[in-house]
Amino acid sequence: MGQRTNEPNLWEKVKQGKKTKYYKRSKWLSRIASLIILIVLLLLGKSYWDSHDFNSYLQNAVGNNVIVENAITQDITNTVENQAEVDGNLRVYYLDVGQADSILVMDKDKTMLIDAGTNEAGNTVVNFLKEKGITRIDYLVGTHPHEDHIGGLDDVINNFDIGTIYMPKMQTTTKTFEDVLDAISNKGLQVTTPVAGDAFKLTNATCTIMATDTEDTEDNLNLSSIVIRMTYGGNSFLFMGDAEEEVEASRSWLPSDVLKVGHHGSKTSSSQTFINQVMPAYAIIQVGKDNSYNLPNQETIDKLEAIGTKIYRTDKDGNILVISDGTNIQVQTNVK
Ligand SMILES: [Zn+2]
Repeated sequence: MGQRTNEPNLWEKVKQGKKTKYYKRSKWLSRIASLIILIVLLLLGKSYWDSHDFNSYLQNAVGNNVIVENAITQDITNTVENQAEVDGNLRVYYLDVGQADSILVMDKDKTMLIDAGTNEAGNTVVNFLKEKGITRIDYLVGTHPHEDHIGGLDDVINNFDIGTIYMPKMQTTTKTFEDVLDAISNKGLQVTTPVAGDAFKLTNATCTIMATDTEDTEDNLNLSSIVIRMTYGGNSFLFMGDAEEEVEASRSWLPSDVLKVGHHGSKTSSSQTFINQVMPAYAIIQVGKDNSYNLPNQETIDKLEAIGTKIYRTDKDGNILVISDGTNIQVQTNVK
């Protein structure tokens, strides 16, 4: 068993140290390896910046936190909204249409639209509905013939397949109202004037007409507002339109989880007696930012807060989505 004499064993190599050719060989090998690693890292870095925008990276890094936070909030909102759709839960959207009302109800494949904002907001409403994948509105409600409620109805009628149209008996002579009637007749549709006590069903939600057209309606169109109470399992929603105190006093009210506050939070609505009966856990106020009417009225807000109601407002919270699974209610703000 001979050992090759010109090749020292490991122990001898260690002893000889830096002076050996073996050391020199391995030193060169490690230099080459380092060079290869450096080149690979440089190439990786280049390809990263080729596919990433350096400026936006800087902006995020340097601290436009608001954008990042909004993006995250929007992601969460979308997730909750999508989950509600997947689970087949009831979705009620209170749209931010400025100083006006528009509410979309989606109950699986059945839809209801209560009001469509002003003439100006018509397109906003139409686009929102289209983005939600809606092609048909099963129940279209014009609560009363004021422009901030029926202004966008003609656009909605012209853009979607329409089922039943509910409007109060009360009529008016404005151009806006005429436009709505024209859109209805051009499509060969008809208006149904409901009476208190009438009821209809979406998929699982049941809607009951609570009030419309009182004797004083002619002096004040607000009093003709179609008021709807919707129940979904154990949850309930009350949509007041612009109904005022006279309407509230005309009957008794069951408690409701979510109240669309009457007449944009004006003090002409939401009497203490009414609030004490409805006892909403959530209240939605549809108002325009810095509106000239100074709505909502502080008294209305105080009355609701005094009983522990959580208030949401379209001027502050954008489009508000209320989700119900029949037992629990979830609220999402700034929904796109
Ligand atoms: Zn109004």
